[in-house]
Amino acid sequence: MSERAVYRTRLAPSPTGALHLGNARTFLLTWLRARSQGGEVVMRMEDLDHPRVKAEKVEQAYADLHWLGLNWDGQILVQSRRKKIYREIFDKLCRREMVYPCFCSRADIQAAQSAPNLGDDLVYPNTCRGNNTKINAVMAERGCAWRFNLGASRILKYYDNFMGWQEADITRTSGDFVIARTTVSGLVNVAYQLACVIDDNESGITEVIRADDLVNSTFRQIELYKALDYSVPEFLHLPLVIGADGRRLAKRHGDSRLSCLRARGQRPQRLLGWLGYTCGLCPEGAEVELDELLSVFDINLIPKSRVIVTAADLEYLGF
Ligand code: GLU
Repeated sequence: MSERAVYRTRLAPSPTGALHLGNARTFLLTWLRARSQGGEVVMRMEDLDHPRVKAEKVEQAYADLHWLGLNWDGQILVQSRRKKIYREIFDKLCRREMVYPCFCSRADIQAAQSAPNLGDDLVYPNTCRGNNTKINAVMAERGCAWRFNLGASRILKYYDNFMGWQEADITRTSGDFVIARTTVSGLVNVAYQLACVIDDNESGITEVIRADDLVNSTFRQIELYKALDYSVPEFLHLPLVIGADGRRLAKRHGDSRLSCLRARGQRPQRLLGWLGYTCGLCPEGAEVELDELLSVFDINLIPKSRVIVTAADLEYLGF
């Protein structure tokens, strides 16, 4: 049997903050999707984002997920321990001249915007394309970003296992994107997009599941899979959990950290019931066990719309 015959997905928390209700929904559904078909779940700690990573959040994330009843298989993959591997693959892209160093500041990029940008990210106008990849004195002195060269403008497409066909011309909506940064001390740090692709490939992930705010990243990552001659996994993006104001769930909407419920000695059944209800898996107001959700799980039952969390929901859940 080939590696890819096994269904395998991953949980990839970032320890930049505590896991909240939104993370709980995505991770629960990821786990249910895998376990309901006898698949495997890999745990990957995405702790590369240095200034914002907090060591205590790593242990807290594992404890939060265990409290919810979620488990995973095999060794945990910790990104901060894999920098050498990332660096080798980054060097390969450099040698193939698929990346280039960029010295533009955010303000430079902002000033160059020709049209209002609809997405979260700024569109990079590829100003530094054509820069030589050889590390030179300027890079060592100022540091730089390394961008992946997307080439000519074209529509890219992929089939999303939840959202259906997705298409975009990311050469216009995002532009060449950052895959690494060289610090002023000359250190090369690989960024999320590249590390994610390297790890998903190495872990034999067959389906990447995450919230729909990362659809844009999926287009970028597919280009990296192709550049590295990796086989492209399937993708499934779930509706994001948002506050009543339509914005991504955050502190301003009230405390929704799982660690807060744990600290109060709550059991997870009420939260599982609420999450299950938002996924069409159980009636409103139910308190359920994880096994009950597993026995009725069906991806087709999950509503397509984003989930709005109100202050009343948070109160009901015991926050
Ligand atoms: N670490 C990211 C997050 O917590 C997820 C990235 C991914 O699933 O690719 O939002």
